[in-house]
Amino acid sequence: MASPPLVELRGITQEYTTGRRVHVAVEAVHLQVREGEFMALLGPSGCGKSTLLRIITGLQVPSRGEVVYRGAPFSGVNPHATIVFQTFALFPWLTVQENVELALKARGVPPKLRTLRAVELLDRVGLDGFETAYPRELSGGMRQKVGFARAMAVEPELLCLDEPFSALDVLSAGALRGELLELWLGGKIPTRAILLVTHNIEEAVLMADRLLVMATEPGRVAAEITVDLPHPRDHKAAAFTALVDRVYATLAGQTREEPEELGSAPGEPGRTRRLPHVAIADLSGLLEHLSAAPGDRADLYQLAADLKLDADHLIELTESSELFGFATIRDGAITLTSLGETFAEASILARKEIFATRMRRLPLVRWLVAMLGAAERRSLRHDVVLAALELEFPPEEAARQLDALVNWGRYAEILAYDQSTTAIYLESRAA
Ligand code: ADP
Repeated sequence: MASPPLVELRGITQEYTTGRRVHVAVEAVHLQVREGEFMALLGPSGCGKSTLLRIITGLQVPSRGEVVYRGAPFSGVNPHATIVFQTFALFPWLTVQENVELALKARGVPPKLRTLRAVELLDRVGLDGFETAYPRELSGGMRQKVGFARAMAVEPELLCLDEPFSALDVLSAGALRGELLELWLGGKIPTRAILLVTHNIEEAVLMADRLLVMATEPGRVAAEITVDLPHPRDHKAAAFTALVDRVYATLAGQTREEPEELGSAPGEPGRTRRLPHVAIADLSGLLEHLSAAPGDRADLYQLAADLKLDADHLIELTESSELFGFATIRDGAITLTSLGETFAEASILARKEIFATRMRRLPLVRWLVAMLGAAERRSLRHDVVLAALELEFPPEEAARQLDALVNWGRYAEILAYDQSTTAIYLESRAA
């Protein structure tokens, strides 16, 4: 039987308001982290992983829904939970030991005990002998270990890790993962559950018992995958790679119906679809790679390895090839369509033509072309278009969307951009 949940999110929705625009970051999320469980949360950037972590630990109050801790509704900052961030802020003027002692002091541990506990914690994370060093004297991996020691000093029941290994080099990350697993599996820390947020699929499969895969727009839990592999896990074992493969497939999803894929234009009912963040050169590179592959298809997992792409970039690329109708995604593999094949083999000019035709189908492009067409001299200033996009997307995303529109539009020779006046205008043949 499954253990009781330590923490539970019930119907969590988080909206962010910027100006007049309300953006639904996560919608109706239900999840449980059970006692004794190591759970990982995966998903593309912007799907709301950090938001959920802040809500779970009580650093943020959701717009709707309930946080339940040990069976009782909970509000305020949860004293039983701690987050370890990507880069742990250590006080540079304090030694390693003093940094850990500070966390113990905040918990009200008396001075003598503090010293003992700090030394013991540092020993546990493998920093024996570095007690009197200053943070600047340590490598990134060692600093992160101090971060772990400090997090453990508060003996959290729920240890939340927000991309804790992603800023480290490969070797340090590997070592620190191993050490954390040893502490956790060996019952050497009083922590009752771990929740890891990560981009790294292999890392999640290596460490966690259960994976929640999130999808974006709006952020939601899309799938749950149980990792039924005994520890220590061998990342080369067939069962391991098969599971990694499955997670890739789940993350990248399946080709959707075209109207759903395209979304709607600003001002129209429905959701305005964000353009994937990709450079044309990368998209072309992917299509060429596929066209050279047997059967014009590739396993997503293999593709990520061959093209050295991280999961986020891979998803953006596969998404954009689908959006243009250049490829389809099914069962963890991506296959070129005949249009994609034509594009990959076409001359530069022919590619531009194909790209332009496909690009014009996109609601966001139709909207911009219509706006420019109606404007004086068929041109609008960059900031004017940006302001219009900011009604649809958060400011940072609006800027990225405009960049994509202008870059793609210039490539397709639909739009031109005059840097000196910051005017975006329609190319003469783009009516
Ligand atoms: P992730 O951690 O998965 O990358 P986040 O939780 O950081 O996702 O963000 C989810 C969405 O909410 C994103 O679209 C992001 O731009 C938006 N968002 C996050 N925090 C804020 C905020 N304080 N104000 C406005 N929008 C935010």
